[in-house]
Amino acid sequence: MTQLQAIRFAELKNRLRGEVILRNGDAYESARKVWNATIDKHPAVIVRCSTTSDVVHAVDFARNSGIMLAVRGGGHNIAGNALCDDGIVIDLSQMRAASVDPGARRVTIEGGATLADLDAATQAHGLATPVGINSTTGVAGLTLGGGFGWLSRKYGMTIDNLESAEVVTAAGKVVRASAREHPDLFWALRGGGGNFGVVTRFEFRLHPVGPDVLSGLIVYPLSEAKSVLQKYRDFAAKAPDELSVWALLRQAPPLPFLPRESHGTGIVALALLYAGIPKLGQLFLEPLRKFGTVVGEHVGVQPYTNWQKAFDPLLAAGARNYWKSHNLSTLSDGLFDAVIEYLGKLPSPQCEIFIGALGGAASRPAPDAAAYPHRDAQFVMNVHGRWEKPADDARCIGWARGFFNASAPFASGGVYVNFLTADEGDRVPAAYGSNYDRLARVKREYDPDNLFRMNQNIKPSGECVMRRTSN
Ligand SMILES: Cc1cc2nc3c(=O)[nH]c(=O)nc-3n(C[C@H](O)[C@H](O)[C@H](O)COP(=O)(O)OP(=O)(O)OC[C@H]3O[C@@H](n4cnc5c(N)ncnc54)[C@H](O)[C@@H]3O)c2cc1C
Repeated sequence: MTQLQAIRFAELKNRLRGEVILRNGDAYESARKVWNATIDKHPAVIVRCSTTSDVVHAVDFARNSGIMLAVRGGGHNIAGNALCDDGIVIDLSQMRAASVDPGARRVTIEGGATLADLDAATQAHGLATPVGINSTTGVAGLTLGGGFGWLSRKYGMTIDNLESAEVVTAAGKVVRASAREHPDLFWALRGGGGNFGVVTRFEFRLHPVGPDVLSGLIVYPLSEAKSVLQKYRDFAAKAPDELSVWALLRQAPPLPFLPRESHGTGIVALALLYAGIPKLGQLFLEPLRKFGTVVGEHVGVQPYTNWQKAFDPLLAAGARNYWKSHNLSTLSDGLFDAVIEYLGKLPSPQCEIFIGALGGAASRPAPDAAAYPHRDAQFVMNVHGRWEKPADDARCIGWARGFFNASAPFASGGVYVNFLTADEGDRVPAAYGSNYDRLARVKREYDPDNLFRMNQNIKPSGECVMRRTSN
């Protein structure tokens, strides 16, 4: 760090209520860690903001000094864009407060909250909004990319439940975006990622959920995968909106409800949640138990917040990860063959293939109702390359890429922006489809100099550059 930089960081620190963490600080090593252990970036300074006004100072600092800027919500993003080398990180991990108005069925939550924070606050009132399936994920990054999980078939994507957002823009202004205020910005925030500013507060609509819900796992052997997946496809096509069933193919973890001899063998796990009266849900589940030879079942009525954490142990922070993702409008037999082939050559016991079901309410809005365009995606399929040692990087990444290529002919061509890895910037147009041009225009309006570029980047449209040069 130069002496000039040191003076500037000291000035910034004086303006803030939050913490400023420099390279020589005690907290630096832990503060620069994110969920994916392959990310190894060294920011010049990490600003742990406490208030919206801290965020304004940090944005002003980045803009005025020309230093690279990254924004960290929950730190979960696979691409590691929550950090940057040699720049400033606006870290919102201390801004996690939530406030629920049960009468109005609304929650307001700060930009660094996790899904666990959100679920805990809303479930205290028997309410929830649809979010993802791993409770340590950040509300901010998830929402800004679209957001889906167990409740999405019934209540839509996370963005479909967003009422308003408080945003610090690239100019350092605090604005409220909603259907009435800054409507273009509000449209862009609902899927356009971190391209448009720092969101310090989200307001969501809530729905009655649980607090106890019918949920759990039904597990089949990999040897029956093809016919189980075929039956899953037929079942999913007729399932009510209340019922979400996802398929997970991997090696069996040592779960107590699975026989000891099945641990470590290949399985197809059907993971499900029924977002309605549990007794009614039981009736819909019956066919799922007849897809083949059940290895084990653990389905019952349990707190929604428990089910929201059920996959946390399999997806804990600190492992090395390389993911690839396809949107699917149908599930074809050729796809099942590719899945089974790649399950047969898993490079590490933690690698897996996930098929998440969308459809229902998540598919009903028009593709241009918000920046997220993929309303035709009935399924999102992820290959999770996941391992422990750097020495296994090439093998595990190669496996994930191999499956991605083998399954590409059966995919729709679209992709969910939140599952793009660091080397997939060229897929950003596919993530936005026909909404890309409008996003580039909104980017020009709110961030013409692309201050917020450490993300799956939407470039400000060219017209802007010309107009700005001629002014
Ligand atoms: C284990 C795991 C499970 C997942 N499951 C699901 C799932 O079920 N459903 C689903 O929809 N997605 C899921 N995802 C994807 C997830 O939505 C994205 O990784 C998301 O980006 C995580 O948000 P974050 O705030 O934790 O990430 P971060 O890494 O902190 O942020 C990601 C990006 O979002 C932007 N950003 C973050 N916070 C802000 C803010 N406050 N203001 C402006 N921009 C901001 C920045 O550009 C940043 O680079 C999962 C990811 C993982 C790793």
